[in-house]
Amino acid sequence: MGEFELIARYFQHRLPRSAIALGSGDDCALLQPADGHVLAVSTDMLVEGRHFLSTVQPAALGHKALAVNLSDLAAIGAEPLAFTLALALPRAEAAWLADFSQGLLALADAHRCALIGGDTTAGPLNICITVFGQLPAQAALRRDAARVGDDIYISGTPGHARLALEVLRGRLELEARAFALARAHLERPTPRLALGQALRGIAHAAIDLSDGLLGDLGHILAASRVGAHIHWPALAELAASSPILPHVPAHWQHTAMLNGGDDYELLFTAPSSARAAVHAAAQRSHTPVQRIGTITAEPGLRVWDANGQPLDPPGRSFDHFTP
Ligand code: ADP
Ligand code: MG
Repeated sequence: MGEFELIARYFQHRLPRSAIALGSGDDCALLQPADGHVLAVSTDMLVEGRHFLSTVQPAALGHKALAVNLSDLAAIGAEPLAFTLALALPRAEAAWLADFSQGLLALADAHRCALIGGDTTAGPLNICITVFGQLPAQAALRRDAARVGDDIYISGTPGHARLALEVLRGRLELEARAFALARAHLERPTPRLALGQALRGIAHAAIDLSDGLLGDLGHILAASRVGAHIHWPALAELAASSPILPHVPAHWQHTAMLNGGDDYELLFTAPSSARAAVHAAAQRSHTPVQRIGTITAEPGLRVWDANGQPLDPPGRSFDHFTP
């Protein structure tokens, strides 16, 4: 199968949207966001051995490659419009391509995000997606928008993906049912798009959790020039109602929840006067949300236990260039 046959067979996506003036097949695609809206653009690359193991199911890989990009749109409050796919493949294997494109395009259809172009080449497996979304000008949930006194919230329960990774690495054991659930979080994350859009005009700052709660919150603190207190008991409450976290020792709960990585939950701040509005946005988007801390004027990030004692600093977040 040649390059153009491959594209026509696996990466043709007919999803009519008024924002797409011209789709795949020409030298460029043409996008027209709605009146009064700005375009949101984000790119994420997935490299074999770095972001995924060679044993992962191709359908899960297709899902995750798009999910991590959609998560960035969610974190700024954008609605997805379209994406491009740059793909390097060692060989054109029909079964692999069929599964990969099914996983990819099923998620694209679910969020009405059209595949409008890309590039295809032979080479070591590498998947690079760029997503385009739109949002009303001024509505963006920016990292530099946290204010002193804001509440800090998290969606879902962070930590599950990290536990699955540690089991796959042979550093942790989980019984089969808990492992299957954790693995679904690692391999098929849910981008929190409905929540991100529901928080427009309510939340101040937001970020999606890709490298771990503390590290990603650190990006908001640095950009907004503020500090934060995190209340561990609020996270412990989430852990207690998780089907996975109660099965691991306390130090793994701390590591997974605070420094986990690959969660793709939203972390956001909102003024305390907006608690009812945050609750309503969570209900409207069918997304669980928990208040876990406060933004402070004093710089730095502190985690407190139930007795008001500082929790041991549980290490660093994931960083590709730090051993
Ligand atoms: P060019 O040489 O002009 O860059 P290509 O030959 O690389 O164009 O691609 C031909 C068309 O197919 C372009 O419109 C491009 O966007 C599209 N395309 C290439 N790879 C993919 C892919 N993996 N998924 C979707 N569209 C693709
Ligand atoms: Mg090209």
